[in-house]
Amino acid sequence: MTDIIELLPDHVANQIAAGEVVQRPASVVKELLENAIDAGADAITLVIKDAGKTLVQVIDNGKGMTVTDARLCFERHATSKIKSADDLFNLHTKGFRGEALASIAAIAHVELKTRTEAAEVGTAITIEGSEVVSQEVVVTPKGTTISVKNLFYNIPARRNFLKSNTVETRHIIDEFHRVALAHPQVAFIMLNNGADVFNLAASNLRQRIVNIFGTKTNEKLVPVEEETEILKVSGFVLKPEFAKKSRGEQFFFVNHRFIKSSYLHHAVKSAFEGLLKEGTNPGYFLLLEVDTHSIDINIHPTKTEIKFDDEHAIYAMLRATVKHSLGQFSIAPVLDFNKDTGFDTPYEYSKKSAVAPTIEVDREFNPFKTESKQSNISFPFKREKQPAWESLYVGLKSENFEDTIANVEMESELATGSLFEQEEAEVGQVTFQLQNKYIICPIKSGMMVIHQHRAHERVLYEELLKNITMQEAVSQQLLFPLQLQFSKPEIEILLKIEEQLTQTGFVFSEIKEDSMEINGIPVSVLESQIERILQQLITDIRDEVPEAGFSQNDLLAKSMAKSMAVKTGTALDSEAREHLVNQLFACKEPSISPANRAIIMTLGATDFDKKFN
Ligand code: ADP
Ligand code: MG
Repeated sequence: MTDIIELLPDHVANQIAAGEVVQRPASVVKELLENAIDAGADAITLVIKDAGKTLVQVIDNGKGMTVTDARLCFERHATSKIKSADDLFNLHTKGFRGEALASIAAIAHVELKTRTEAAEVGTAITIEGSEVVSQEVVVTPKGTTISVKNLFYNIPARRNFLKSNTVETRHIIDEFHRVALAHPQVAFIMLNNGADVFNLAASNLRQRIVNIFGTKTNEKLVPVEEETEILKVSGFVLKPEFAKKSRGEQFFFVNHRFIKSSYLHHAVKSAFEGLLKEGTNPGYFLLLEVDTHSIDINIHPTKTEIKFDDEHAIYAMLRATVKHSLGQFSIAPVLDFNKDTGFDTPYEYSKKSAVAPTIEVDREFNPFKTESKQSNISFPFKREKQPAWESLYVGLKSENFEDTIANVEMESELATGSLFEQEEAEVGQVTFQLQNKYIICPIKSGMMVIHQHRAHERVLYEELLKNITMQEAVSQQLLFPLQLQFSKPEIEILLKIEEQLTQTGFVFSEIKEDSMEINGIPVSVLESQIERILQQLITDIRDEVPEAGFSQNDLLAKSMAKSMAVKTGTALDSEAREHLVNQLFACKEPSISPANRAIIMTLGATDFDKKFN
């Protein structure tokens, strides 16, 4: 048999290696930004076109490269950062594998321009699919500019695998955030399709966080600071009440490198024990500094995971440190009696969540009064259409109503569509509330139990959806325009749905980069709810898989209905209860909440008979 093993040509080996390092345009962004940091730059510009698919360019003012280095940097395993394996455990640079540029050059058109301080002229090199196409002497400022064009031009399968521009841009912004947060002392600019997305001056960490995530982040930050022999921790956690359902503002940096670690996340989360609502995750920006000898970074191609020698000790220390910081902070809201408890409730203990203390309940609340500003509960229904409780029964014999009622999900086998057949108004207008959660209505054949939050959600959802699609909404003018702060990415999301929001009754008088001014809101909403509603909306849209094809209108209506609906734990007086029940049965689908959960359950008299047997 003849020999069959051959050495792969370099460009093929490089393409294979590229698969590990470069998954998407954001990977290129990460590698180039890190190289710029390693080169000692203090001002870095990132330019993106077409979500990085057409262009990723990084311009730095770092130390630059000599002619020979400019040529060598595209070779595989060419690095200036380590000389021996021992150096792997004494790393002070982001890079060390010497494969990023080789990988990138194998799968894109790359242009490099670079000049060192000492040299009078610089070098320009063009390289395509690992082949050097040209090399010239150029006049260029000190530092390096690398342009990566047409990523994956020679691997169509990978190119087709890329997600929509929105998704790829989001990945790029994530990488940009990580590097920018790890190096607040470096100035960063990011341009996307020619527009200025970020312009971050050199600053400290707090300032950097605020510049990226918006001014209102400032008051959410709780400083964390601790130094022991094996670990130095600094940075911030977000106050517990700003914890979010989605994973988002969670950043660990170990020796100024962003890393992912569910183990350390767990440490922080457990420090928040008892302070978080169920299912939410705390936000944090934590810088950990450890001895370079005590970690191994070389366990993952993209260097986002590391191994600590003494993981358990780090866990314990991190947890204790965060707990301590939170402890100091927790004194504040207790003493601060003047604070508006409306939606800045400090935090709730998870066990007590059934009481849901975040809602101000106005027991005087009367939904039939058009103005009821004191309450956080509002029913956006017009008075003239207000059917009496009897209408539930009066309409029973009409076909229409039977159709509707046939859709009601009956949990009891015995309670069928015939439930209301012989109902008459004499049953009375009695409703009860159980545990501030369910509305109980006696009906002739037994009892109906309605989930109050879901019922209201359904009512609001249908109303909102109608408003958005039919443009019927009425707006209430605010006496004083409402100023709200958002981060730039949040504003971008809101801009995308501006039109639909306007159709629900919002009037935006001004939208800036990181704030907006609102001078009209939907009639059914209280001013104090606006920020929470918009925040929820942003989270929902961000978490939505963009390709899933859900209509934006539907998502918007669902999200707003969820935020606006009366919460479990809210006491409703009899009028409010009746009104809600009437509105529910005026809905197209009274039995299922917008999130597909049951709203109504019925128990027939025979069910009771069985129990009393
Ligand atoms: P690594 O960063 O792991 O060393 P890279 O392939 O990313 O590998 O880069 C190879 C080498 O090219 C680096 O070690 C560095 O010497 C040089 N280099 C890359 N980017 C820059 C830059 N922006 N400025 C100066 N030198 C650079
Ligand atoms: Mg590198």
